[in-house]
Amino acid sequence: MNDCLFCKIMAGEIPSKKVYEDEFTYAFHDIAPQAPVHVLVISKKHTPDVAHNADLSDQELAACLRTCAKVAEMLGIAESGYRIVNNCGEDACQTVKHMHYHVLGGEKLAAQMA
Ligand code: 5GP
Ligand code: ZN
Repeated sequence: MNDCLFCKIMAGEIPSKKVYEDEFTYAFHDIAPQAPVHVLVISKKHTPDVAHNADLSDQELAACLRTCAKVAEMLGIAESGYRIVNNCGEDACQTVKHMHYHVLGGEKLAAQMA
């Protein structure tokens, strides 16, 4: 996916503030944070959104969630709590069509989901 922003970030063609990386996932700070901690967790294998999850193996898919929890531990918000958000498609206002999870925390988040 040559024209995919997150594939370019993962390849180092566009700089990012990396938090964590493993065989299946890459995590980096969001450029426009919505909370004191706002990290994006992406699958290294390109797939546009969670609706296309069949593009990924169960291991690749599960790795994303494990990395979200890992990042929360690393950044010290595992105990205080955090929110994992996935936007899928137009009605969810997904802007980058490479499946990703937002890990948000570091303060008391709004009770409502949107
Ligand atoms: P979405 O709206 O697709 O769920 O989330 C896309 C996220 O990517 C947004 O929170 C946005 O701030 C973030 N983002 C967009 N472009 C860049 C970029 O070039 N670098 C980083 N680190 N984050 C980006
Ligand atoms: Zn991509």
